[in-house]
Amino acid sequence: MSFIEKWLRADIQAINAYHVPSADKMIKLDAMESPFALPDELIGQYLAYLADAQLNRYPNPSADELNQTLRELMDIPDDFGVLLGNGSDELIQLLALACETNDTILSVEPSFVMYDMIAKFTRLNYHGVALTKDYQLDLTSMLEAIDTHQPKLIFIAYPNNPTGNTFDRKSIETIIRSTDAMVILDEAYYAYAGDSFVMDIGKYPNLVVLRTVSKIGFAGLRLGLLIGAQATVAELDKLRLPYNINTLTQVSANFLLKEKAEIDQNAAIIIEQRQQLLSDLNAIVDLTVYPSQANFILFKASRAQALFDFLKENGILIKNLSSAPNLADCLRVTVGDYEQNQLFLHAVKKFYG
Ligand SMILES: *Cc1c(COP(=O)(O)O)cnc(C)c1O
Repeated sequence: MSFIEKWLRADIQAINAYHVPSADKMIKLDAMESPFALPDELIGQYLAYLADAQLNRYPNPSADELNQTLRELMDIPDDFGVLLGNGSDELIQLLALACETNDTILSVEPSFVMYDMIAKFTRLNYHGVALTKDYQLDLTSMLEAIDTHQPKLIFIAYPNNPTGNTFDRKSIETIIRSTDAMVILDEAYYAYAGDSFVMDIGKYPNLVVLRTVSKIGFAGLRLGLLIGAQATVAELDKLRLPYNINTLTQVSANFLLKEKAEIDQNAAIIIEQRQQLLSDLNAIVDLTVYPSQANFILFKASRAQALFDFLKENGILIKNLSSAPNLADCLRVTVGDYEQNQLFLHAVKKFYG
């Protein structure tokens, strides 16, 4: 037995590491990144702005300017609190750290895998309630599970990853009202969805909303935010590690995220491309395509594994979910720009001949 095998918690050794496949020179449609890079005409200005960053000093501990930048970008009212994280993943972890031993995290299945993984890392219980066959919330099962498991945190991704849909709003409101748990609406894909729960924060003291800039063009910055009542944010802030948002992220975001018109326009292009891709995929008889309010599309494919491998051989990387529970034969593709989507479609059509 090696040193680490003797030393490490057995439950950590049993975890399958979160696997990120290599995507060197591939058309990368696996991770919901934006296809749009920084426009050339902004690069000079951006570098001049970065040159002022004082890397010998610790970052601004409360990232005040960035807080304001994000409020403006996302229309967050002044009377709500905002907590910043090094990606929203860090905020999910922070919420787990706020729990007590033996507390339970509840979510739905299939959904974002980090809810379950972070529960494992922090030794909390995790319970996933199955969605219906067409990936809707099963309200009766949810209410029963809440009653049985008395969760401390309930995560609902809205829109949901990897299914792409938003759940019924009334059902979510019923869940929020039915529980003492903190209910976290994870709006990583807010820019591509027609609805949000941010404005409901004033109505429900146990509701908080997570967002991120990862899916709107800035995955490399690692910047997420939790929006909630000011008193809630002030308490949770005690668990944030000092200086968690580094100087380069703060400075970059303060420059880049002020381009609200450009960011909104890019989201509009992706929504348009999504609608086109949905209808093009729907026309392929070997596929069952699920509706999407996000920047990706879930579809069931005959010979899913072979299609995934064929795309990879042709330089196109998507996400293979076909071995996950509830997702037999399912693949997920990120909506790219026009050219990437055409190359993807062309390859899928070629596969089915
Ligand atoms: C991508 C994603 C996140 C992670 O966002 P980061 O800010 O990059 O950590 C959180 N929630 C959901 C549902 C996601 O799909």
